[in-house]
Amino acid sequence: MLGGFISKKYFDRKRVVFVSNAKSYIESVKDTIQRRDPNQTEFQEAAFTVLDTLEPVLDKHPEYIKANLLERLVEPERAIQFRVPWQSDDGQFHVNRGFRVQFNSAIGPYKGGLRLHPSVSLDVVKFLGFEQVLKNSLTGLPIGGAKGGSDFNPKGKSDSEVMRFCQSFMTELQRHIGPDLDVPAGDIGVGGREIGFLFGAYKRLNGYQNGVLTGKGLTFGGSLARPEATGFGLLYYTHAMLKALGDTLTNKKIKVSGAGNVATYAIQKATEYGATVITCSDSDGYVYDPNGIDFKLVKQIKEVERGRIKEYAQRVETAEYHDGSVWDFDINYDIALPCATQNEISKDQAKLIAKDRVKYVCEGANMPSVPDAIATYRDNNIYYGPAKAANAGGVAVSALEMSQNSERLSWSFETVDNRLHDIMDNIFEISEAADKEYQLNQDYQAGANIAGFEKVAQTMMAQGLV
Ligand code: GLU
Repeated sequence: MLGGFISKKYFDRKRVVFVSNAKSYIESVKDTIQRRDPNQTEFQEAAFTVLDTLEPVLDKHPEYIKANLLERLVEPERAIQFRVPWQSDDGQFHVNRGFRVQFNSAIGPYKGGLRLHPSVSLDVVKFLGFEQVLKNSLTGLPIGGAKGGSDFNPKGKSDSEVMRFCQSFMTELQRHIGPDLDVPAGDIGVGGREIGFLFGAYKRLNGYQNGVLTGKGLTFGGSLARPEATGFGLLYYTHAMLKALGDTLTNKKIKVSGAGNVATYAIQKATEYGATVITCSDSDGYVYDPNGIDFKLVKQIKEVERGRIKEYAQRVETAEYHDGSVWDFDINYDIALPCATQNEISKDQAKLIAKDRVKYVCEGANMPSVPDAIATYRDNNIYYGPAKAANAGGVAVSALEMSQNSERLSWSFETVDNRLHDIMDNIFEISEAADKEYQLNQDYQAGANIAGFEKVAQTMMAQGLV
């Protein structure tokens, strides 16, 4: 009952603690999430991390509490789950689960990637969809938030198996998407090859509508600079943060995790800025090269040959390969750019990051740091650029691909790249402005949450009870 959120006093040990209206409302929304979906731990982590930063905004806007805005924000508008039957090359029949969570369409059509990985569940897709709502808002472009995918594992599958899976997946997904309704794209396990197969399947069922997916090939409506966008964007954001703090990327030593699309182009742009990227990794282990990782070779091994990162060290004399997590590798460096997957940095690994004298952590993957790791960064005065701000470049260029598709034109690489750079600068600026407005002491995570939230909140209020 909303009228119940009057200021309360609680006994906490021997102290009487004043709990604000906003705080008690936030706690009640967290209780509701916990009660409704007690097993959705990834979603809880993502939602609680955001909710915990919104207290000052609710203090300023009690009308949001009255309108029960947060409970609406954490509930997806629609969550679709479906069966994906497919046949492997040896003739066996398989069934995977497909998902699309259309989280929020306040500011535009649903937009967000599709992930193919065995860890995909409704919980994971909800966490990613929730993050996507605020991330897409931060881009300043008119896109709502969604996410989808399947627990299908593309590792070790042939091209024809991946194609048959994508065709079966799209046979159902096509009912729920469209250029002005919901526009999926890539994410982990979904790159140019998969988007091509998905697009072909959609076209056979509905005719040619090139705005229905982004991350397409250049010959059928794809945008130049889309493959580079997340990695380049991460470095533009990091550059903007360092600049605001009176620092530069030149001669910095950087640890990157991952070896996929985000990591590859992050390594390229960091190197162009005059930094040295000393590591990259995959789920088996990591490569260390004090002379700097060659992004072209990473791309060759991972994307073209679909091999393992271990092979990098076999081809480069100065590189060494080790099994295990790159975040357990003890060496002094300046900047950490986690670009692999969620929860890849634990609290203990964050402590090692602090011990290794790292000054900045900016996230290329979605939610790679567990909440205790983020707290450890703060305790050690490490500046932290959260994923929803730092990795928004990919979806931002997807939105630019939608614009190009609508006007049936293609922009030059330079035009798209310049717009991406401006968008990332702007994301840092509005996060910093929110941080200053609410006197958060250079908490760019809270700043990004607040800046992303405010636009969605104002829009939901303007649209009535949605
Ligand atoms: N999967 C990317 C993300 O996490 C990009 C989504 C898109 O391009 O729609 O933001």
